[in-house]
Amino acid sequence: MAATLLDGKAMAQEVRALARERAAALAEKGRQPGLAVILVGNDPASEIYVRNKGRACEDTGIRSETIHLPADTAQETLEEEIARLNADPAIHGILVQLPLPAHLDADRALAAIRPEKDVDGFHPVNAGRLLAGQDTVLPCTPRGAMYMLKSTGLPLSGKEAVVVGRSNIVGKPMALLLLRENCTVTLCHSRTADLAAHTRRADILVAAVGRPGLITADMVKPGAVVIDVGINRVEGKVVGDVDFAGVRETAGWITPVPGGCGPMTIAMLMLNTVEAAERA
Ligand code: NAD
Repeated sequence: MAATLLDGKAMAQEVRALARERAAALAEKGRQPGLAVILVGNDPASEIYVRNKGRACEDTGIRSETIHLPADTAQETLEEEIARLNADPAIHGILVQLPLPAHLDADRALAAIRPEKDVDGFHPVNAGRLLAGQDTVLPCTPRGAMYMLKSTGLPLSGKEAVVVGRSNIVGKPMALLLLRENCTVTLCHSRTADLAAHTRRADILVAAVGRPGLITADMVKPGAVVIDVGINRVEGKVVGDVDFAGVRETAGWITPVPGGCGPMTIAMLMLNTVEAAERA
């Protein structure tokens, strides 16, 4: 039987409705949430992401400001801009769109954001809190993936979870969130010796790599929940890391691409921004 689709578009609408309601409550008290997005250079994909974030803010009732800096911006200029936004009481969330041009130090830029305004959850303080199991802002993509996973209603405790990809923005925080739910977590990456041997054991399989078709049906345990974070452009089409047509015949639940993790990520950015404004 074909897997049940985890409809990220519909779930994103739920999350955005919640964010909208809470943004309106804040606005009534004269504290409309504000998000600043810094974009350096002219990467076309980044420009699309930033535009979508601006639209989502408008739809949610969040004031948004986009700071578009030239590709040759100096590190000091970028950090001055961050310092200005850190000091602006109308801005509750600051996001530096990644990737930055190669001459800029992304770690330094992210660390320059005040942790309370870090709505991406990438600041070392917030990443450290997540590692220590403390309350903190959660990175948007893993937070969205967990929301979709929990929508299945399956008990997570004791389940085998395998995350493929160990980036700081998706793979590692995803593994920590699954651990927090008492899953037994395996984190696979480009040097993993036998990827399929791990993925075949997974009750929950998260693919966050950036390789189209990496996860095929023979690598998936029947009935597993498969969360596809990958975004790849192949012959003008957007596809994930999972061979969707094959895997949907084996899995119990699967997220589509597009319409899965993508919309959920933006919805969680809206919620993170509203929550930052509530705490301010
Ligand atoms: P990344 O390039 O930082 O990390 C990729 C990871 O994949 C690395 O840890 C690497 O070790 C691992 N890897 C590479 N080849 C592998 C292989 N053959 N087998 C196993 N592991 C392998 O990427 P990222 O920023 O984590 O993003 C991953 C994917 O998720 C990309 O396609 C990206 O576009 C997408 N993404 C989607 C969203 C969303 O909103 N849906 C958000 C962020 C990233």
